Amino acid sequence: METRNERPLETSLKHKLEREKYLEIRNRYGAPELTKIRGGSNRLRIETGRWSTIPKEERFCEICDSGEVEDETHFMLFCPAYKELRENMWKELERFGIRNDEMTTHEKLNTLIGDRNAESEYYTMMIKIVMKYIEKAMRNRKMRQGVKSERTGTVHLPSDWKNDK
Ligand SMILES: [Zn+2]
Repeated sequence: METRNERPLETSLKHKLEREKYLEIRNRYGAPELTKIRGGSNRLRIETGRWSTIPKEERFCEICDSGEVEDETHFMLFCPAYKELRENMWKELERFGIRNDEMTTHEKLNTLIGDRNAESEYYTMMIKIVMKYIEKAMRNRKMRQGVKSERTGTVHLPSDWKNDK
């Protein structure tokens, strides 16, 4: 990754360029899962529950037994089902100076799916690491969901369930 021009820039112009760089990177590497997670229009229960009568505070995660609502925070930071994937992600992010034990929940979420590091020269690499987590965790989630539904007798297998073998 190279910056095209190293000329000193006026502050406003600099901000404009940084904003563009952020959007460019986000569009190139962020789609589709990261964008969905950021926008909230994802497959987590907090969103899918919108189409049912289940109140927001009762849209619990069905992947784990924590009894927590399955929102972006739970999926990205807390669901024990993705503990190992998450630990790997934080470990990989460490080489960019990111220390998750020094951050609040809000800061962590903003690091992963917000734009806390959008101006960092390593932003693209960080996004890739986060994307890897989201993709793997989503795949994991889909499998568990299928297994879980099968166990409880509910017919709700993912459409490509058979192809997973
Ligand atoms: Zn969970």
